[in-house]
Amino acid sequence: MPENTAGKLTMEKLVSLCQRRGFIFPSSDIYGGLSGCWDYGPVGIEFKRNVKEAWWRSIVQQRDDMVGVDTSIMMNSKVWEASGHVTNFSDPLVECKDCHLRWKADELTENKCPSCGGALTEERMFNTMFKTFIGPVEEEAAVVYLRPETAQGMFVNFQNIVNTSRKRLPFGIAQQGRAFRNEITTGNFIFRSREFEIMEFEYFVKPGTVEKWFDYWVEERFNWYLKLGIKKENLKLHQHPKEKLAHYARNCTDINYLFPHGWAELEGIVNRTDFDLKQHAAASGKSMEYFDDETKEHYVPYVIEPSLGADRAILAFLCDAYEEEPDKDEIRVVFHFHPDLAPIKVAVLPLSRKENLAAFAKDVYANLRPCFTTQYDDTQSIGRRYRRQDELGTPYCVTIDFQSLEDNMATIRERDSMNQIRVPVAALKNTLLAKLSGEDLFVLPEGGKIWKQSGND
Ligand code: ATP
Repeated sequence: MPENTAGKLTMEKLVSLCQRRGFIFPSSDIYGGLSGCWDYGPVGIEFKRNVKEAWWRSIVQQRDDMVGVDTSIMMNSKVWEASGHVTNFSDPLVECKDCHLRWKADELTENKCPSCGGALTEERMFNTMFKTFIGPVEEEAAVVYLRPETAQGMFVNFQNIVNTSRKRLPFGIAQQGRAFRNEITTGNFIFRSREFEIMEFEYFVKPGTVEKWFDYWVEERFNWYLKLGIKKENLKLHQHPKEKLAHYARNCTDINYLFPHGWAELEGIVNRTDFDLKQHAAASGKSMEYFDDETKEHYVPYVIEPSLGADRAILAFLCDAYEEEPDKDEIRVVFHFHPDLAPIKVAVLPLSRKENLAAFAKDVYANLRPCFTTQYDDTQSIGRRYRRQDELGTPYCVTIDFQSLEDNMATIRERDSMNQIRVPVAALKNTLLAKLSGEDLFVLPEGGKIWKQSGND
């Protein structure tokens, strides 16, 4: 008997909804796709930009102890030799002797092929960095790697930042950008891809203070998800046992999320010690020391790195916001996105396409569009349009009806409660701005009068 998935989120439902509503498509779909690669559609790109911006605002723009950079994807190969990635950035690979499928050994629960049950080869290490050649000659000297993390671009720029930004310890360098890993197995939608985006920062601290800052960042990062609406019961911390740490790490705590396929890593917070800076100092011959003008000491800082895949965060936000609820004889599917993340903030829906009503509604739309990502939708019945906006996670729909032409009022319908309020068209912008920013007050422009919202608005 097939499992009853009514009311429950499965990866299949999410993948299909994401395709249907223009969030995410398989890459090169018309050619059968490319394993581990995905394309963001018109709605998905808005969502992704919002997730990245929420991170950038909280990590870089709203802090005094952080700067941002955008470093190149391809770097001198010596970077990856010094950082240890050429030797150590590997996963244990086993191959089925019968069907020849390849598996990541540490993800298998039994010592046989999960697909056909066949016997497996001995484990061997497989380096997951993509290799290519720079310039017109394909030879060993021209090898470059596609970065598997953005961190090294920040380490090699450490002195550039210290010299130009006047930041004193502790401070961080943050970056968002593409990363590439030739993962042995991909899957679970955008959870594990071969091309993805990483958002991470290196937080440099004085040696001896690293434990305190590590705990600080675990808490900060955990709270970031809560602030953006992730339910606490779907998050938990997982400390890595020492023998499972990456080659550069002394300590690592993951923030795990309860995805439809089970608990799995969402973000990793690592104490990378002074490993990377010292490796680069030794390999390049350039000093990576910092001069502490308070204690008059020279030392190489320690580093804490919270690192998160943008796509994995997107998957968590999608899963957490998804809900199916009974509505009359149907099922309402809705994404309860935090307003900061919602791809479309406001939809303007004229009740009919009649000329005078359409002209009125288009005026409202033109007035709102400079303030929020706004969509104009005049197709199908109003009920169908509400459902569509629910599936896009649009927090507010503004409905224009024939009475609007007479009283200059519009209806705001709220996504989560489905409550409706009537508001003067002249007050729409400020009302929506206040509602979207979670404020409990809104201002009517006439006379600057301040209105308190009633509890069930
Ligand atoms: P995993 O154990 O899942 O392979 P990892 O420990 O190798 O992850 P890190 O090197 O710590 O991952 O990468 C930092 C973050 O980047 C992860 O927490 C995850 O959010 C994201 N990430 C890593 N690999 C992928 C991938 N293949 N696809 C999407 N996101 C990824």
